[in-house]
Amino acid sequence: MASVEITGLRKLYGDVVALSDINISIPSGSFFTLLGPSGCGKTTLLRTIAGFHDQNAGRIAVDGQSIEGLPAHRRDVGMVFQDYAIFPHISVRENVAFGLKQRKVPASEITKRVKDVLDVVQLGAFAERMPHELSGGQQQRVGLARAIVIRPKVLLMDEPLSNLDARLRVDLRAELRRIQRDLGITTVYVTHDQEEALAMSDTVCVMYQGVIQQAASPLDIYLHPTNKFVATFVGANNFLSLDRSGGQFALRSGGATVLDADGATQDLVCGVRPECVSVKAGEVAPTADEIAIPARLSDVSFVGREMEVVAVTDHGETVKSLARPDPAIITLAPGSAVTLVVKRSDLAFFDDGDAGGRF
Ligand code: ATP
Repeated sequence: MASVEITGLRKLYGDVVALSDINISIPSGSFFTLLGPSGCGKTTLLRTIAGFHDQNAGRIAVDGQSIEGLPAHRRDVGMVFQDYAIFPHISVRENVAFGLKQRKVPASEITKRVKDVLDVVQLGAFAERMPHELSGGQQQRVGLARAIVIRPKVLLMDEPLSNLDARLRVDLRAELRRIQRDLGITTVYVTHDQEEALAMSDTVCVMYQGVIQQAASPLDIYLHPTNKFVATFVGANNFLSLDRSGGQFALRSGGATVLDADGATQDLVCGVRPECVSVKAGEVAPTADEIAIPARLSDVSFVGREMEVVAVTDHGETVKSLARPDPAIITLAPGSAVTLVVKRSDLAFFDDGDAGGRF
């Protein structure tokens, strides 16, 4: 187990700033996820920690010791890749033993460690199989076994589940988390899948254009996104325009005053998560702690345990709602008048720019 501290890290590819002033502190034993859209710099950051790339500036320390200048194989990190990266021509056992042989670990210890690790990843019965005789999920577990058998201080995983089908991803997600917890190994995990990040991590670090937008617990990231980008990427928020008059902001759709923000100098938008929007048929008056927005039903999809409703406000803004199925809504014809009801306490306010702050 080891902590990882990254300070002032910068990485350029020619003129492209892939990482800009990255500062991260990962406590020993925790599961830390880099989350962001394609091209945001997650893989570059992971590979820089691994020692596959040199940084242009900044410091990476493991347990307080700088790892600057150390080649990848001396960094004491284990790496799991999206494409498994296991040798196709040798058995599961030999694949897992490979790194130990390279490190000149005695044969008797290799036998024991390989057996123990194959038990951890629940492949004990598959030791003599060849990789092509395994499913994708099993191959990825061999990849994981190879990485952890060397007992690295830090485990780095680059989208390890993305080649698997949806069902297996969810199963292996829980499995990976269980193994990580049991071993207590400090883990840096890369994904662009927000659900995966929320489900697995102690800390989710959202990146955009080479810059960390927010690093916090899954709950905090989801409930208290720091800016419009994080709110969109993680919570699939709806955004509603605001009109400002003096120090007061009112929803353009619906007209209700929602924020008294004397001194606000910037334009703000209002964010609300789909599960906080309830849709009522016809015209409904709000209570004192709610707002009501008149809208027209655009689309309802009923998927069993929930319904997803898309409505368009009278001002032309599209709002999505996720809620328990309500027959009164599911049976409405598109174009019907509805009211979108939201608790005032569920509204959040952001600068009207991707990476601006929360108000
Ligand atoms: P993805 O999810 O698609 O893998 P990512 O978030 O991991 O994306 P990176 O691969 O780290 O993103 O890339 C960050 C930025 O650096 C991107 O703009 C990318 O185009 C650029 N980049 C990455 N590798 C190189 C390279 N070898 N040469 C030039 N530019 C690169």
